[in-house]
Amino acid sequence: MAAHDHSRQKRSGLTKGAKVVLDALEKTHELTSAQEIHGQLRLEGENAPGLTTVYRALDSLVAKGYVQSVDLGDGEKRYEVVAPGEHHHHLVCEKCGQSNHLDQCLIEELEGNIRSKYGFIIKSHVLEIFGVCSNCDKAES
Ligand SMILES: [Zn+2]
Ligand SMILES: [Zn+2]
Ligand SMILES: [Zn+2]
Repeated sequence: MAAHDHSRQKRSGLTKGAKVVLDALEKTHELTSAQEIHGQLRLEGENAPGLTTVYRALDSLVAKGYVQSVDLGDGEKRYEVVAPGEHHHHLVCEKCGQSNHLDQCLIEELEGNIRSKYGFIIKSHVLEIFGVCSNCDKAES
């Protein structure tokens, strides 16, 4: 778990609920929905925060840069722990639903181009790539 240690450094200013949710997210490397986190916390203890608290905690963790939210287009946001202030994108298989984490943002260079061409200052972006993973592709052919 060494790769996630840096996210433990600056946790001051987090509410108790946010810390609990961050701990739960750090236990998994998968994209996890608020419902799933809530369910997992309920399994672990009686004093688990309610779903509203989980949503609020996720919002504040995203705002502080500890967690990124990912929209896979199915109406339910997924969350995962990232290095503070960093983010990445995913290759999402439409057949098996697996998502591969890309190791970096691919479009920072593109943002620079957009800025110089259109004078547009980008504050954020959403990019997930949908297709067929190599396993599903092999299974078909
Ligand atoms: Zn697949
Ligand atoms: Zn990811
Ligand atoms: Zn990006």
